Amino acid sequence: MANVRIEQLSKFYGTLLAVDDISLDIKEGEFFSFLAPSGYGKSTTLRMIAGFEETEIGDIEVGGENVSALPPEARDIGFVFQNYAIFPHMNVYDNIAFGLRLRKVDEAEIDKRVRAALEQVGMTGYENRFQREMSGGQQQRVALARVLVTEPRILLLDEPLSALDKNLREEMKFWIKNLQVSLGITTIYVTHDQGEALTMSDRIAVMHAGKISQVGSPREIYEQPQNRFVTEFIGESNVLPCTVQEFDGRTATVDVGGVTLRSSVAHDVTKGEAGVMALRPEGVFVDTQETGEDWNSLKLPIKSITFQGAMVRFEFDLGGQSMVAEVPNHVHTPKAVVSDELFVSWKVEAGRVLTD
Ligand code: ADP
Ligand code: MG
Repeated sequence: MANVRIEQLSKFYGTLLAVDDISLDIKEGEFFSFLAPSGYGKSTTLRMIAGFEETEIGDIEVGGENVSALPPEARDIGFVFQNYAIFPHMNVYDNIAFGLRLRKVDEAEIDKRVRAALEQVGMTGYENRFQREMSGGQQQRVALARVLVTEPRILLLDEPLSALDKNLREEMKFWIKNLQVSLGITTIYVTHDQGEALTMSDRIAVMHAGKISQVGSPREIYEQPQNRFVTEFIGESNVLPCTVQEFDGRTATVDVGGVTLRSSVAHDVTKGEAGVMALRPEGVFVDTQETGEDWNSLKLPIKSITFQGAMVRFEFDLGGQSMVAEVPNHVHTPKAVVSDELFVSWKVEAGRVLTD
């Protein structure tokens, strides 16, 4: 087990800056995720940590040791790829034993460790199976066992669930998380799927075009996004262009399409500044009555009502823009139809003004 320090790491491919000045401290035993849309430098960063990609600018330390110039096999790091990468011509046992045989570990020790790894991933009894005789989830477990058997200091996972279907992905994300907790191994996970990152991680780095946009716990990233990119990328938000009218050091008064509203802020703002007010649909309440003091409350016409199963989605018209509210379907909602007017209310602190 080890911590990981990344210092001022950059990577050029020709003139393309794929990773742009990343610095991070990943703690021992932490489950840390890089989350971003595809093409934003996640895999490049992970491959540099593993040593598959050369580090030319910046430094990478694992357990206090600068590994920047070391070849992958000298770094003591486990790497699990997107497409399992287990050998199709070897059975499960030989797949898992492969890395140890390469290291000339003696066969009695190999047998002990392969059986322990199989048990760790819940695949005891599958020793003689081949890739084609296993489901995607089972193959992924073997791929993990193959890496864990070498007892790496850190575990790197690059979109390990993306080849699986949705139900299996759901199941495997809890399974991987539980395994990581029980092993206590420092894990760096790359994904474009916010659901995976939010569910599994202790902390997340949201990346934007090679840069780190924000680092925080899943709750911080979701509830306190620091900029528009994170706000729009994580979860759903109403993002309404606004102009700051007043700021008292805590709460801003803003103009949204001619309507005056109060809101919390991500950073200090100044009068006259333009930005957006972001608001989660689940933070918006719908009723026939106005609400109290620390709330914004507006009477707005309904543009659409959509039943979504657990939630009912209302779309309102706010000065020509859409304002979406999502209400749990078991909550009493007024029997309204499209073009009726209802009160749309949210707590002042549920809104968030962002100017960058
Ligand atoms: P992600 O994993 O977030 O999808 P990558 O790290 O794979 O992103 O890629 C980041 C950027 O670097 C992309 O624009 C990609 O096209 C480019 N890139 C990745 N690998 C190479 C390479 N070996 N040669 C040239 N460009 C690359
Ligand atoms: Mg990638």
